[in-house]
Amino acid sequence: MAIKITDECINCDACISECPNNAIYEPDSEWAYADETALSGTITLPNGGTADAEEMHEAKSDEFYFIVTDKCTECKGFHDEPQCASVCPVDCCVPDEDHVETEEQLLAKKAWLHGE
Ligand code: SF4
Ligand code: SF4
Repeated sequence: MAIKITDECINCDACISECPNNAIYEPDSEWAYADETALSGTITLPNGGTADAEEMHEAKSDEFYFIVTDKCTECKGFHDEPQCASVCPVDCCVPDEDHVETEEQLLAKKAWLHGE
């Protein structure tokens, strides 16, 4: 399943550079599917919907770092463990029970993000 950041986050910035999918954003940052991924133009989302990869979306939090669920693969295909959770000093990167995915789905998401 994807990882999420809770309101225990102390905005230390340790996690953001560790994410292989650029799924983590600073508080109050707009985000796009195309940010540092292979996605461009009209894309089919993991849930079957469509979106414009370059469209900017509102920040998910204006107080804490946040993870874009569709860009988080739990680090599958890159690392054995979620890297954000590994480096977080307050253990606030936790499984997102609302977005449970199989390993196969996570690897497919990784391939989608990186144009493989
Ligand atoms: S689990 Fe991995 S892919 Fe997901 S947000 Fe954390 S570092 Fe990024
Ligand atoms: S490492 Fe943890 S505390 Fe630091 S910014 Fe990331 S989620 Fe927040």
